[in-house]
Amino acid sequence: MRSLTSLLALLLAGPVLAQAAVPLPAAVPSPVRSANPLLGEWAPPFRQPPFESIRTDQWLPAFDAAMGETRAAIDRIANNPAPPTFANTIEALEWARLPLARVSGAFFTLTQADGTPEIGAIEEKISPKLARFSSDTWLNAKLWGRVKTLWDARATLNLTPEQARLLEITQRNFVRGGAALSGDARARIAAIDERLSGLGVEFSQKLVADQKANEVLLSEAEVAGLPADARAGAAEKAKAAGKAGYLVVPTRSEVEPFLTLATNRAAREKVWRAFVMRGDNPNANNSGAVIREMLKLRLERAKLLGYNSYADYALENSMAKTPQAATRLMMEVYRPALAKAREEEADLLTLAGADGLTRLEAWDWRYYAEKVRQQRYAFDEGELKQYLAMPNMEAALWDTTQRLFGLKVTERPDIPGYVQGVRVFEVREADGRHVGLFYADWFTRPTKQPGAWMNEIREQNGMLGLAPIVANNCNYTPPPPGQVALLSMDDVDTLFHEFGHALHGLLSNTRYASLSGTNVYRDFVEFPSQVYEHWTTNPDILATHAKNAAGQPMPAALIDKVKAASTFNQGYLTVQQLSSALVDMEIHSLTEIPDTFDPMAFEAQALKRMDMLEAVGMRHRLPQFSHLFSSPEGYAAGYYSYTWSEVLEADAYEAWLEARGPWDTDVAARYRREILSVGTTRPPEESYVAFRGRMPTADALLKNRGLLPPGKGAPAAAR
Ligand SMILES: [Zn+2]
Repeated sequence: MRSLTSLLALLLAGPVLAQAAVPLPAAVPSPVRSANPLLGEWAPPFRQPPFESIRTDQWLPAFDAAMGETRAAIDRIANNPAPPTFANTIEALEWARLPLARVSGAFFTLTQADGTPEIGAIEEKISPKLARFSSDTWLNAKLWGRVKTLWDARATLNLTPEQARLLEITQRNFVRGGAALSGDARARIAAIDERLSGLGVEFSQKLVADQKANEVLLSEAEVAGLPADARAGAAEKAKAAGKAGYLVVPTRSEVEPFLTLATNRAAREKVWRAFVMRGDNPNANNSGAVIREMLKLRLERAKLLGYNSYADYALENSMAKTPQAATRLMMEVYRPALAKAREEEADLLTLAGADGLTRLEAWDWRYYAEKVRQQRYAFDEGELKQYLAMPNMEAALWDTTQRLFGLKVTERPDIPGYVQGVRVFEVREADGRHVGLFYADWFTRPTKQPGAWMNEIREQNGMLGLAPIVANNCNYTPPPPGQVALLSMDDVDTLFHEFGHALHGLLSNTRYASLSGTNVYRDFVEFPSQVYEHWTTNPDILATHAKNAAGQPMPAALIDKVKAASTFNQGYLTVQQLSSALVDMEIHSLTEIPDTFDPMAFEAQALKRMDMLEAVGMRHRLPQFSHLFSSPEGYAAGYYSYTWSEVLEADAYEAWLEARGPWDTDVAARYRREILSVGTTRPPEESYVAFRGRMPTADALLKNRGLLPPGKGAPAAAR
């Protein structure tokens, strides 16, 4: 579900974001240029990164050259004897960042999708350099002087709205980077940023290492209940590791199906413990000290800039604007969700009682929930999966995209992916005009980060007329040779979700790359992805594409059951998500963090305060919370954004329902124009109102999740 989690987006958010194929200046010696494919011109017509011809040892020299070039361009702006103008300062910064952003966009695609030890070693070297570079830019006094002069004179500059927004954001980024501070405080900010960057890398590496160290080897009896393909996969993994039995890697994509289907309760407990204890074990991979140091540094940084807490600092750049507003909205959803989860727990315990259970544990919930689902909705994931073959679901995605926006998506087998198995597609308008390239990386590999995400390999750039290049990553289990992958309904949701992000990048139409596509506030960025999930269960889409191997469509009764099941277990899922979001907001709202601070103890106390149900458990515990700790800022004090965005997407989808339904292309066109194409060229609340005619309410979300108290479910039209 992640979107902008790459170091690129986080370190370079603000002034160093755009990436494009600009001609290389003569300053770079020609032997380096000709030998290093990263540094030359990239091939037309699309000028995508030449992944197929890059050797690993060429990344560092390319980074050094690109960084030198960007640094020189920034120095020229700072030392320009001419008085500052928008063109020679703010727009010039957009040009200056291009060489570095171009290399970064390609490199950070790999660190997440194919983080081999060699790539990891380069990342370790490059991350502190980038962090230092970023702070140097913010703390460049001459440059800040020019930006401030323009900011103070903004009313007289005759800027377009997009230019005014770029000036505002640039100015704010400088202030947040420490530009307005003096001497020691500025140096301290730079040191903190560099240290945070290193700690983020350390956190990720510990998590991956602990995942590896805690793989669970199971016997035949312990994998009872798993479908044959999952058993075969686990046996294959054990064999590859030179072991006998079945190996389960404690990642979400393996653990969730296991906990749902495995009949052996002790085995479920074993797998669940391996999963939730990652990073919290008494070994070298324990991340407690890393988390504490990150929290302390973030707080210190926020205080230096004049904020009370890190959360206050973080939410300045958000649609919610304050931690209080974000918490208020979370509690508006959490309270009814907790009440619902209590009902669900009692319900599950009735069934579990027949197996002799007197208490439901966290490793039992998914198992019994699946049984209840099978009883009440009379279908199981296995039955469903045969209709959800990967190639068909991919076709469903392209069909939805064409019907809503008129876009055509065509595979380009002539363009190599960044690693074996990645497929490249060209997206075109109905009239044939090129929109952008899309890299599809669906399947898991040992070197891939867990989860699913979208990243921009190259942002849309109106200044240069460059089309966007975006990638989607999932971690689906690859099919056995000669077969197609069968997806779960959740997998299909993820597929649509990530492509919703991809469309946000692809349909961007801004002049400035740093304002383009998904460079929006993080409590807005999940809105376009989540709204796209509504078409996953669209009856027309399922009827056309959800077919089994014999070509039979998914029976209508099964479709009805899938839809009826959509409010099932929502108390549990909502509490899981919001408990993580509330712990995140609380821990980042602290105004003092002593040296003895224990993040795991804080987590336990926070859960108690919110009456958390133990049988539910957080979606992400702190030691595995990559959203918060894998990079200097990430989603810190921002995990609420998912819920905030869900309020937006639920409310926004009603716009289709209030008009002519899900295929109303007028609503789609308005959505494209007011939301997808504008990036962050204006504040998100303005974009939202331009699309919807008013600000959002939480009613649609509570209704969709079945969380409204009885009698409160007013039909959309009546509101
Ligand atoms: Zn997402």
